[in-house]
Amino acid sequence: MKEYLIEFNFNKQYKELVTKLKNKTIIVYGGGKLFETICQNYNISELNIIGVCDRKFDDNTADEYIYGYKKIPFSKLAEYNPDCVLVAIIDNSLIIKNFQDNLFRESKTIIMPFLKRISQKEFFNGDKKFVIIGTQNAINRTFSIIENENFPAIYGVSIKNDSCCEHNGFKNYSLNKTLELYKNKEINGIILPLYEVNINSYLVIEEIEKFGFKKEDIYPVPASIFQANISKLTKERLSRAFKNANNFNELPIIKFLLSEHCNLNCAGCSHFAPLVKEKSLLSFEEFKSNIDRLKELFEEIRSIQLLGGEPLLNKELGKMIIYTKQVFPHTYLSIISNGILFPQMDDELFTILKENNVMTYITEYPNCKNIIDKVDVLLKEKNVKYLIRRPKDNSEKKFFKKYQLIENKNPEETFYSCPERICHTINNSKFSSCYYAVTVERANKYFGINIPWQDSVMDLYDKKLTAKEIINRLSHPINLCRYCSKDLQFSDWHITNKTPKLEDYFIV
Ligand code: SF4
Ligand code: SF4
Repeated sequence: MKEYLIEFNFNKQYKELVTKLKNKTIIVYGGGKLFETICQNYNISELNIIGVCDRKFDDNTADEYIYGYKKIPFSKLAEYNPDCVLVAIIDNSLIIKNFQDNLFRESKTIIMPFLKRISQKEFFNGDKKFVIIGTQNAINRTFSIIENENFPAIYGVSIKNDSCCEHNGFKNYSLNKTLELYKNKEINGIILPLYEVNINSYLVIEEIEKFGFKKEDIYPVPASIFQANISKLTKERLSRAFKNANNFNELPIIKFLLSEHCNLNCAGCSHFAPLVKEKSLLSFEEFKSNIDRLKELFEEIRSIQLLGGEPLLNKELGKMIIYTKQVFPHTYLSIISNGILFPQMDDELFTILKENNVMTYITEYPNCKNIIDKVDVLLKEKNVKYLIRRPKDNSEKKFFKKYQLIENKNPEETFYSCPERICHTINNSKFSSCYYAVTVERANKYFGINIPWQDSVMDLYDKKLTAKEIINRLSHPINLCRYCSKDLQFSDWHITNKTPKLEDYFIV
């Protein structure tokens, strides 16, 4: 039942209820499993609930309490005349209709579900026709997930840069022809698989909209759908994924820094970890709260990365993995580590990595070859999904510098040529397009410099932020791009000495 609440984003629905039902008296109808799970897992104290009613509560239960709320006998429900009855039953439509037509017919009491199930019946009713637009690969993947009896009819496909006239037995239309079909009402809209990891889904939707399709007729397929095990995709999951572009909200990627410090002191570390002298770990409580807040904002997150410093230094890593997968079950979850601590990890962590389908990326540094060879054997034995990035030749391991102390004149150019602009990172509830913005304060403190970063980050808990605004800001240059060079300076990798040098981190 808890997964059900997470799937339907109860957190977000609860916030909406709080706003809608401010200062209203509420009776919850249904004292069963759904309400029990809500009470056990969420703080719903902002709702003015005056009691809980259930058909099985008779007059003898009038002085009793359930989950801290007064029991209201069914026979007395209408007498209470609450402003609202929240129906805490999964299949609530018949009860709501029954209450509206009978018990509360003459009253102003609003009857509504405690948990709304969001469905896209209209899209899946089978009598609409669509053209799928995308690359050949994306279209193939879409076909493989939509072989579903209730899926709408596919009229044809439109494959960019591909001149073949038929695909999987479907006619291939150009984008112009697709628009013509749409304007002539021969198709109802388009399906847009957002399969490629690095694209900005929102900009693609915007482009298609400008081309002439109405937003409500564009159905983007979130990338997280493609990461799911196709044979396990339920009809319900699919129907929730296919929302029209007005309701689409997927964050492409977010990186969490689980530890500020690191057990390896690479000179020029792009996160400035060697400059952090005090041990500093992200707590599970803060991580959980960040994840919950992200879920309020985004239906899906395509990829979540856990890194540091060194993420294995954080003993709560296992709990964090489990919680992330509970809240975002379809995300591509990975950890990025230097691997050194793996031999010291408990079996429990390996089980968690395996059971939650976590991908482990290990970067091998030149002084760690022997240990990483052992880690290679260990991870294979534990059946964990992993990839080791080894330098071709130990002497060849290079680090690059791009941060600079003076402003450049063309931050736009720096941003659009910067691969790190899609490394969206969160640290201490602040987040930004890249990790530079949320870690440069470490360098400011250590070297006594003053790189301005404050206006380049967003506060995750800023109530004014919407998913759309966040994506918009993540897709455009930030002020800090003035302090980056588009030309990289390379140096041989080495361990920092006791006193880190400014020139290891910045172009001076
Ligand atoms: S291992 Fe990674 S996080 Fe640690 S100091 Fe080196 S570059 Fe930085
Ligand atoms: S500040 Fe801008 S240019 Fe520099 S790493 Fe971040 S996104 Fe890239």
